[in-house]
Amino acid sequence: MGKESHQINHRSQIDQTCEMEDQTAAFTDYGLTSDILESLQILGYMEPTRIQQSVIPAVLSGRDVVGRSQTGSGKTAAFGIPLCQLADWSENKPQAIVLEPTRELTVQVKEELYHIGRKKRLKIPDVFGGFPIDKQIQTLKQKSHIVVGTPGRVMDHVRRGSLDLSKIKRVVIDEADLMLDMGFLEEVREILSHIPRERVLLLFSATLGEELHRLIQEYLREPIVIEIDESQEARADIRQELYHTSNEEKYELFLKLLEREDPDSCMIFCGTREMVNVLCRKLRRDGVKCGMIHGEIDQQDRIRTVEGFREGRFPYLIATDVVARGIDFQDLSLVFNYDFPTGRETYVHRIGRTGRNGKSGTAISLFTEEDQHMKEMIERYVGYELPVMTPEENREDTGKYWNTWERNEAFWKRQTDRPVLKERKGAGFQRTITRLSIGGGKKSKMRAVDIVGSICSIPDMTPEDIGAIDVRDSLTYVEILNGKGKKVLDALQGKTIKGKLRKVRETRNI
Ligand code: AMP
Repeated sequence: MGKESHQINHRSQIDQTCEMEDQTAAFTDYGLTSDILESLQILGYMEPTRIQQSVIPAVLSGRDVVGRSQTGSGKTAAFGIPLCQLADWSENKPQAIVLEPTRELTVQVKEELYHIGRKKRLKIPDVFGGFPIDKQIQTLKQKSHIVVGTPGRVMDHVRRGSLDLSKIKRVVIDEADLMLDMGFLEEVREILSHIPRERVLLLFSATLGEELHRLIQEYLREPIVIEIDESQEARADIRQELYHTSNEEKYELFLKLLEREDPDSCMIFCGTREMVNVLCRKLRRDGVKCGMIHGEIDQQDRIRTVEGFREGRFPYLIATDVVARGIDFQDLSLVFNYDFPTGRETYVHRIGRTGRNGKSGTAISLFTEEDQHMKEMIERYVGYELPVMTPEENREDTGKYWNTWERNEAFWKRQTDRPVLKERKGAGFQRTITRLSIGGGKKSKMRAVDIVGSICSIPDMTPEDIGAIDVRDSLTYVEILNGKGKKVLDALQGKTIKGKLRKVRETRNI
């Protein structure tokens, strides 16, 4: 009874639920400035995704939004584009804050926003635990437009006075259900209590349970609710195969199937951290290149592993559901459920990671006697029977049917070949932007105008060719845009800045 009345109350607050329309929309429909449109073009975002078509105009019009959708829908850019568009460059204090449940998501979302706002030269620091707080404090002291962070570290900065929330106009609570599962809701509430009341709040979640409904009711004002329900679409375009096995034979069958499929990139899901460890150890022992992520692995290693997998340094990533949640990997050709999922939505989420962007995908799942019930629940949920593959070979001959499968040389060669690295997202930007380090910083009273002055005195250089300038204690970083980096690097070797010849070098882009 309590639950029902609560939900009815909530509904009455929501004045509009957006129906998804399939008509073609364009980014130029939203009155976005040319710097944002240019960034989207470099990123290769040709047209808005369904969630973007609804969220972008809603946020631009100043409405609160509840978005229910999955990773892979383009959700980050859906809030990222309007946040970047609405950011006032001249304001020094943060105007928007994005809260993320994990460090990986923080890094991923920061990068996406950074790319979208790059032509506008927006500063988007990220803050999360496990990294030296002093460096974050230094960064936060400078101009910051949008801060992305985990609730714990954000609150830490607020308490220390290193993060000023007084100018925040827009707040994003991303992956709210995971935030709730991880026990961050109290910190989220505390952060909200430090933010001015006239703010726009955007909440995104894969599921909306009672507690989140309560949070929405308490904090959001007449939100536009945008739902993209992909579960019922059930991804018929993904080839799904299930294999019945026993715990004793599982690993052997798994390796044989992996060898047979020989995917370019594959995510392998396990039910527990221990299983992730065990599987990774076994695969490495057998000479198979793989990486693993789970909650107990140090976050620096986790971030390095995610990057390595994205770049194609190793083809298989073993993960638990929680830690993999929301992490975006493009072009997965295979999803492997080593352990069968324990929730029906989890099955749909996991397999939805392959076959994106019109590409074909495969999902292979192993299941044992104990998983039979869950298999039936998933079938009822997706509305069709999951295809269980039965081996043609005669088990009596070989004992194990997969023993008759031929050795796949290509698979074993892949394990020893040098990988061909993939281009990182935003590589289009890297090609046109050069980051220079210049000797001299705050200690020698270097200011951004000194840098701009010297660079603009080089023929053919204008302020539009200069990106973000970051003045540190004894070093200054400056981004040179439009492919003019080499020219500036050469010219500054013989040019004084603030009356002195400085050491100028090219440095790594982020
Ligand atoms: P997300 O759901 O935010 O994790 O995004 C999933 C993937 O889609 C990311 O790799 C984005 O870079 C990409 N993406 C977002 N918006 C678009 C778009 N309009 N066109 C093409 N790709 C996009």
